[in-house]
Amino acid sequence: MLPQEIIRKKRDGGTLSPEEIQFFIGGIAGGYVSNEQLSALAMAVFFKDMTMDERVSLTKAMLESGSTLDWSELAGPVVDKHSTGGVGDNVSLMLAPALAVCGAYVPMISGRGLGHTGGTLDKFDSIPGYVTQPDNDLFRKVTREVGCAVIGQTADLAPADKRFYAIRDVTATVESIPLITASILSKKLAAGLQGLVLDVKSGSGAFMPSHEQSVKLAKSLVAVANGAGVKTSALITDMNEPLASAAGNAIEMKNAVQFLTGEAIDPRLWDITVALCAEMLLITDLVSSREDGVAKIEDAFRSGKAAEKFGEMVTALGGPSDFVEKMDSHLKLAPMVADIYADEDGIVTGIDTREIGVAVVELGGGRQRATDPIDHSVGFDHLLGLGKKADANSPLARVYANSEDEIARASVRVKAAFTLGEGAAEHPCIYDIIEP
Ligand code: URA
Repeated sequence: MLPQEIIRKKRDGGTLSPEEIQFFIGGIAGGYVSNEQLSALAMAVFFKDMTMDERVSLTKAMLESGSTLDWSELAGPVVDKHSTGGVGDNVSLMLAPALAVCGAYVPMISGRGLGHTGGTLDKFDSIPGYVTQPDNDLFRKVTREVGCAVIGQTADLAPADKRFYAIRDVTATVESIPLITASILSKKLAAGLQGLVLDVKSGSGAFMPSHEQSVKLAKSLVAVANGAGVKTSALITDMNEPLASAAGNAIEMKNAVQFLTGEAIDPRLWDITVALCAEMLLITDLVSSREDGVAKIEDAFRSGKAAEKFGEMVTALGGPSDFVEKMDSHLKLAPMVADIYADEDGIVTGIDTREIGVAVVELGGGRQRATDPIDHSVGFDHLLGLGKKADANSPLARVYANSEDEIARASVRVKAAFTLGEGAAEHPCIYDIIEP
């Protein structure tokens, strides 16, 4: 086989065989496929698409490019969640311990924020001492003994995706549903899961540009993951406003601990977290209906057991043993704090959620490139939601920054992101569930 013949076939609209896909992806590590050939194939797929069978083969080839994890020694099902990314999306922080309380195992390999979206890993990096890159023995021990371990991507999981993604990033081929599908699933499925639930975001802060595209991506992910042998469903959820009332790293960690202890719970965040957890219990047969799943998870939160489990995980991975109890003394927030008020009173009728994410990046809380350093202490809380009144008593947001200049810049961006009017239409926080 020759790489150029495979590119030619896809360029002309043909369907690649599993062997051709395996050969081509094998060439990334094997050294017989060049970056030019990889970018040409990416562009051919971008224009000519892939069948579901081709997507399954691509996902399998990419996940087989590195090592895969095996959890057969565990006493319960191994399950994970993946979100396509958003603003104020700290669901994973509460979801992993709650599922562990309910008998599932969650070895969660999470990513850093990129572009305007936040990353779970960055949020955990705001905990002093917490090791986001443990060695394999510690990762396995914490997963086995605590039930959940949220850590960072290791170099040996789906390495083909790393090189392919870097090339897509600079050749305008990121926005291809077959390529996004294989990229996301190769990394997740290499973790040896029995079940996976996808949280595909739709709205002004979502990765996909329209609701239709989000639905297409969700259907592709569900079909391909199930086709690759992992029971998977997807929830399409709203990202027309930040999910939590906080956006940043330490600040979203604080929001998550307040959720877990019951001190302050954002209602939309509760609904989506509970729904995702219930779906994960359902697909792993830990419950027999969504209603049972909801009841079990709500109990894990309300009993305080999920908060306890979260504290156990933090300690086991090197964080403070009193993190949950003394969160404020462990989390560092930026020293300059200011409330941002709208120029005129009104009801919030629209939020450009992406712009709120960009404002976090501009404060230093996000990055342009995966390797850039970030400031975990900056961000926003008290973010006003859709349908809420902005007036002299209710700011649009409270900003945490390091200088007056940063506060001024953030204020301009936040004010521009909010549209005020006379009343916002109700919108659901869960649009659809795509079942296995
Ligand atoms: N996230 C990924 O991991 N891969 C993509 O292609 C897009 C988003």
